[in-house]
Amino acid sequence: KFITFEGPDGAGKDSVLDAIIPDLRAKMGDKLVVTREPGGDPIAEQIRDVILDPQNTRMDDRTEALLYAASRRQHLQDVIEPALARGAVVICDRFVDSSVAYQGAGRQIGEQEVFALNQFATNGRTPDLTVYLDVPAQVGLDRIKAHRKDTQYDRLDQEETAFHDRVRAAYLRLAQANPERIVTVDAMQPLAAVIADVQAVLTENIPR
Ligand code: C5P
Repeated sequence: KFITFEGPDGAGKDSVLDAIIPDLRAKMGDKLVVTREPGGDPIAEQIRDVILDPQNTRMDDRTEALLYAASRRQHLQDVIEPALARGAVVICDRFVDSSVAYQGAGRQIGEQEVFALNQFATNGRTPDLTVYLDVPAQVGLDRIKAHRKDTQYDRLDQEETAFHDRVRAAYLRLAQANPERIVTVDAMQPLAAVIADVQAVLTENIPR
């Protein structure tokens, strides 16, 4: 079973994952694989380093989309597919929906174009379940500013609220277009309530 987590910046995805994984791990052991792109795959890491290198200030939007897709492909082949093949449940932090939202809508390449590119990259591999943590752009941004973790990857200063509004709108369109795959969780709630909702979704969807 292939499960992905998605959401705009500041939705609390990392906090929710941190809260739910230990429990699942204790129950499932090596039947659970938790990963995120580039997922420790050395080739995917190298591609990702090019995307995130702060020196690369002039990266073209389509170049960025292609590199994300390439890194995703390598991670899929080397980490996700083998785990699924041996029957594990794979939980992946961000996948194709992130590119549709961030590169397609955020950077305005076009959601369909970026989806098509990623169809090629993934050969059509689609998550069985996607947990989408929904929060309005401004709320998410305010949360991040409130407890800002300064990392070299923090690109918030370059990205204005309009960008994040487009990202969130794209996620909502994806959720509406794929109701059988995407479960929306209201991430405006206090963290404990978000965690409880996510736990309920997973209990329903992970084979025991
Ligand atoms: O998952 P996390 O919130 O740590 O993602 C870090 C950042 O990477 C996002 O806020 C987003 O700006 C960027 N990103 C992106 N395109 C993707 C995936 C992530 O621009 N496809």
